[in-house]
Amino acid sequence: MKKDHQVETLNELDSALDQLEKQPLPTEAHAVITNLRKQLQRLIKSLEQDEEAERLAALYQVSQSLGVSLNLDEVLTQVMDAVIQLTGAERGFLTLIDPDTNNLNLVAARNIQQENLQRDDMKISRTVTQSVIDSGEGLVTTDAQIDPRFSEQESVIIYALRSIMCAPLRTRGKIIGVVYVDNRARTGIFTKDDLNLLNTFATQAAVAIENAQLYTRTDQALASRVSELETLNQIDRELNAQLDLNHVLEITRQWAVKGTEAAQGWVVIYNDEDSALNLIAGPGGGDAPKLEKGLISNIQEHPASGLIPAKEGKPAYFSAPLSHAGKTIGAIIVAHPQTISVSDQQFLARLAGRAATAVENARLYEAVEFANEAKSQFVSIVTHELRIPLTSIKGYTELIRRGNVGEITDQQAEFLDVIGKNVGRMADLISDLSDISRIERGKIKLVSGFITVQDYILETLSSLRHKLEEKSQSLVTDLPEDPLQAYADPNRVVQVVTNLVSNAWKYTPAGGEITVRAFTKNSHICVEVIDTGIGISEEEQTKLFTQFFRSEAPLVREQSGWGLGLNVTQRLIEIMGGEIGFSSQLDKGSTFWFTLPTTANQE
Ligand code: ADP
Repeated sequence: MKKDHQVETLNELDSALDQLEKQPLPTEAHAVITNLRKQLQRLIKSLEQDEEAERLAALYQVSQSLGVSLNLDEVLTQVMDAVIQLTGAERGFLTLIDPDTNNLNLVAARNIQQENLQRDDMKISRTVTQSVIDSGEGLVTTDAQIDPRFSEQESVIIYALRSIMCAPLRTRGKIIGVVYVDNRARTGIFTKDDLNLLNTFATQAAVAIENAQLYTRTDQALASRVSELETLNQIDRELNAQLDLNHVLEITRQWAVKGTEAAQGWVVIYNDEDSALNLIAGPGGGDAPKLEKGLISNIQEHPASGLIPAKEGKPAYFSAPLSHAGKTIGAIIVAHPQTISVSDQQFLARLAGRAATAVENARLYEAVEFANEAKSQFVSIVTHELRIPLTSIKGYTELIRRGNVGEITDQQAEFLDVIGKNVGRMADLISDLSDISRIERGKIKLVSGFITVQDYILETLSSLRHKLEEKSQSLVTDLPEDPLQAYADPNRVVQVVTNLVSNAWKYTPAGGEITVRAFTKNSHICVEVIDTGIGISEEEQTKLFTQFFRSEAPLVREQSGWGLGLNVTQRLIEIMGGEIGFSSQLDKGSTFWFTLPTTANQE
């Protein structure tokens, strides 16, 4: 440093005067020299004090700027520039010890112009850095070329290193790296004071570096956790999008491969009957895991750590158990040419947790679907088998009732009427059940076309008119003159209108009024059946349209019915592409409405 040289020169002058003072000189001259020396020494002292103050001021200034940033690269560059500024070095290097491998990594290299150094400029003495790490003490050499500690070292000779100073970066008693400065051209650049300064600064720099390292590590860990959570969220959405078992298994398998960058992945599931493992997703052959050997025992014995290391040209396998309600139902298996890292194993474990629930749900859904299908098939067979004997009972009862096979008494006629009514009820039940089972099995056939809705409403009403008259109920129709064109199956429209008007008739006391309206609404045809009947309580309204629901109201119980009509009606409307709804007030009446599409593609 500049002042260093001045002090050096003044000291040299002082020793020269010292020599002169020792010479036999006239007393006057001797007194002048002694006086001169006194002044000289005062000057040297003040220069030294100045220099110390300057050093401390500089140190204070650079220390201030440290710790402001938590960006590791920024902190490292800051430290390097500050060190060069403080020591007047030509180049500065910062090396950090890798905590995993213990290797020294060069992390920053700067020159006096505050530029990053190029690779081929990074010629430093490893012997110096290593000896600082080993001893834990900083060191300075004024000329490495002649310093017996380093002059023999290859790097010192090859790179022609001269002034070198190096100090350990130490935090919480542990050396995390070293800071190294040098000047290749000049000797005697650094002094012991410079080393003290570097040591003091290195202590502060080490703390700033460690803070930035910790922050970066936490930041990275947080970012990767957030990204994993996003992935798992997406997996959840994909897994829950469908209840199809094969879909769930394939999604699981694909994510297992993608999430761990595995070469291949599989899903295996235990067979319920014989507890054997079945490969149910993923390619067979090739590297597919051998299910009969180590793998099964591995999953059974170590369900939590199913890593089979790679050997004899075979990849490494990792199996994450699919556990649901404390039971292992199978596993996700991935293969990797080398090994499956701990973080990938953790990812698979998390994926397996989610997949297990989705697989179990899909399996339950499949079982329910299967049971439902079996039930529909059973109903279909039973209704078919009952229809034939019922038709014959109906036919023969009517023959006898009409007296075709001989005279019958009044009492017999009465009994035959009861039989006829009950056969009718059974026929209604069979017809509704058979419709439901056909709709559920997708076997119902619609014969849809463009129809004029009024025609079919009027046809239905004419067949029901006498029933309404019997109960002294008035019928109001509010139908527009212009034909209302809908795209629907006319027979099903008649069935729907019959159901709704029959209900209005059944659940409206004698003398009430029933209105049937039809109109166009939002490019649909809307039909309303309005009655002034008993209405439906709010509580019971929630159960409407469910199978076998019938109100507890006495007037409902007096009427025959199975509680299937509205359910069938709703399903028929929906498969024709319409909607159905109602509004009702207890003891005031109800309005049931449905819509039909006006175009073919809405069906
Ligand atoms: P069912 O008429 O054979 O009982 P539905 O499925 O047609 O079967 O109707 C189910 C139940 O809904 C009826 O039992 C009755 O309680 C109620 N309900 C249906 N329509 C009306 C209506 N117009 N007024 C009052 N209650 C009704």
